[in-house]
Amino acid sequence: MADIPKTMKAMVLYGKDDIRFVTDKPVPVPGPGEVLVKVKACGICGTDVKIITKGMPNMPPYGRFTQGHEWAGEVVALGETVDEFKIGDRVAIEAHKGCGRCSNCIDGHYTACLNYGRVDKGHRASGMTADGGFAEYAVHHINALYKIPDNVDFVQATYVTTLGCALWAFDVSGGYVAGDAALIVGPGPIGLSLVQTAKALGMETIILAGTREERLAIGRAAGATHTVNIKEEADALGKVMAITGGRGCERTFDAAGNSESFDLCMRAATRGHVMTLVSFYKQPVTASLDYAVLNSISIRTVRGEGGNNCKRALSLMAQGQIDTSRILTHTFPLEKFAEGYDTFVNRKDGAMKVVITM
Ligand SMILES: [Zn+2]
Ligand SMILES: [Zn+2]
Repeated sequence: MADIPKTMKAMVLYGKDDIRFVTDKPVPVPGPGEVLVKVKACGICGTDVKIITKGMPNMPPYGRFTQGHEWAGEVVALGETVDEFKIGDRVAIEAHKGCGRCSNCIDGHYTACLNYGRVDKGHRASGMTADGGFAEYAVHHINALYKIPDNVDFVQATYVTTLGCALWAFDVSGGYVAGDAALIVGPGPIGLSLVQTAKALGMETIILAGTREERLAIGRAAGATHTVNIKEEADALGKVMAITGGRGCERTFDAAGNSESFDLCMRAATRGHVMTLVSFYKQPVTASLDYAVLNSISIRTVRGEGGNNCKRALSLMAQGQIDTSRILTHTFPLEKFAEGYDTFVNRKDGAMKVVITM
C-alpha cells in the first residue's frame, strides 16, 4: 500500500452547476468488507446531469461530494475481512449496495432497500449517496463488485450498470421471452441496451420507437427488427399492431418517460401481458388506466440494476452478445471532464454515452 498517495485528482460538486476539478482530495480508506480501487474509467449518466443541475436527496455535502456511479478499475488495497478479491483484480461496480439488514435486502431486493441513503446503516449508492468514481481512487463494498472478464476493457466495463438496468427490466417483467415481441420506446442508452438484451434473449420481433432517425438507425444495427419514427408516423400504435399482426407485444418498455410513450407502451402490450417503466418521468403522466385494467396489462417499474444482473451483463459482454461501441461513443480524461460533460449534455458529435478515463 506504500505507493498509494494521500491525495488525488477528483471532480468535486460545490453547488448547483458548479463541479470543479481538484488535485487535493484525500484518498479514501476502505472499511471492513470494502476495497480501494484505482479508477480507470467512469461513465457520465443522465442521473449525473440531474445531480449536477438539481442536487439529490441524501447526497454528501457540497464542497466534498464526488459523483460517478458507472465505474471500473483495479483493486489496490483491501479492507478488513476481504478475501474474495485480491490486489490487481480488474473490477466493475454496481452502484447500489443494500444495507443487508432490512426485509427487502434479506429478500434479495437490494435496489429497493428500505434504508436507502442511510450510510450509517450500511446502504451505499456510489456516486449518489457516497463518493463515486470521477476520481483517481474510490472505495466500494464487495457485495456490489464484479471481476471483469479478460476480453472486456475498463471503458466497456463501465457499461454494466446500464446493461444491468436493461437485464433487470426483463427480469421484473417476467423473464423467458424467446420468440416473443417487444416494443421499446426511447432510443437512448437504456433503450438501445433493451434492444440488445431482447436480441440476446431470443426475442423474435424487436420494435424500437423514437423521434430521432439517427438513433433509430443505431437501433436497427444493434438488433431492432423494426423501427417506428413517432414524429413521422401519424399512427404509431397502428404501425406496431400491423408489424405484430394485430397481436401487440408481450413486453413493452417505456424508456422515454412521457405521457405519449406511456400510452403507446400500454396500448401496444398484448392483452394479459406486461409493460415496464424504465425511465424517470419529468411531468405527471395522463393515461386512461381503464385500458390497462380491462386488458389485464401489468405495469412494472425498474430503478437501477438489481437482481445481480451486472454479473449477467458482464457475461453477455464477454460472450460478444452486446456491442458497446455503438453506445459508448466518446472518452475524455478526468482533466477534461467539463468538455466531456458538455459533449454528453448537448449530444455533440453524435454523442450517446461519454466515459471519463483516469
Ligand atoms: Zn447511471
Ligand atoms: Zn436494505
